[in-house]
Amino acid sequence: VNRFTQPITQLAQIFNLMQSMAAASERVFEFLDENEENQEIGAGIDVAQIEGQVDFDHVKFGYQPDQIIVHDFSTQIQPGQKVALVGPTGAGKSTIVKLLMRFYDVNAGAILLDKSPTTNFSRMSYQQAMAMVLQDTWLFKGSLMENIRYGRLDASDEEVIAAAKAARVHRFIKSLPGGYQFELNENTDNISQGQKQLLTIARAILANRPVLILDEATSSVDTRTEVLIQQAMDHLMEGRTSFVIAHRLSTIRDADRILYMEHGDIVEQGNHDELMALQGRYADLYNSQFASA
Ligand code: ADP
Repeated sequence: VNRFTQPITQLAQIFNLMQSMAAASERVFEFLDENEENQEIGAGIDVAQIEGQVDFDHVKFGYQPDQIIVHDFSTQIQPGQKVALVGPTGAGKSTIVKLLMRFYDVNAGAILLDKSPTTNFSRMSYQQAMAMVLQDTWLFKGSLMENIRYGRLDASDEEVIAAAKAARVHRFIKSLPGGYQFELNENTDNISQGQKQLLTIARAILANRPVLILDEATSSVDTRTEVLIQQAMDHLMEGRTSFVIAHRLSTIRDADRILYMEHGDIVEQGNHDELMALQGRYADLYNSQFASA
């Protein structure tokens, strides 16, 4: 089993759920927030002022209080750094991402954004600082223009097109009948998986958030699309703090920091060279997975 390429189904399920509720985003937060009073607490966030420093400070978490999954998770990420979450299935990578998104509250410890505990902000406002790009791309029936614009509803047509160009998907869109007015069908399956990923990246570029969460696709796409996706992702991550649930060797090697996780905790952290020098768990995994790559 290739442990780097297991699908992150839990995460995909959450986003499927959110997709079906996308039209009424307030309801998403209502649903996710069991303690409604919590919603009112906390200040607004000025996204333009956020630099994107993210600290996990002794975070403890369990989906059930008597079943702790994350015991003591700490890391400091500087603005603009690229973080690769690596580890076997069930290690807790998606859980960390869900905590960062504030889909759940931590049991102890804190997550900080620009040194402020994220609980200082209202949940909805805090989530304005984040963008997600996921395997299970989160598109809906409607025109491509509308689908990209979903990243920022007040964007002009020109801004949507600029984002599509940056995401390397403009030429593809222009080749379709109707171009940007081309309609995705109910199942959003009248374009390819790779093209859907590029559209989602365009949406995230348009959204222009300081902190990104990416779940690297494992679905097979042709080599040319693969290159386009990589270029578009690199463009998107440039200057933004990025957490990548990483499957590709190149992403992991290029990361400013690799968080190698097992059983909910970070077992090793550092960049590729540092972790290889440790000759520990990461080096073992790397040697077994990628020695021949
Ligand atoms: P990874 O993303 O590394 O595969 P996960 O974060 O999905 O790992 O899972 C970490 C642990 O949390 C696993 O033991 C998993 O079974 C458990 N888990 C994940 N989601 C839930 C949930 N919604 N409720 C209860 N347990 C969960």
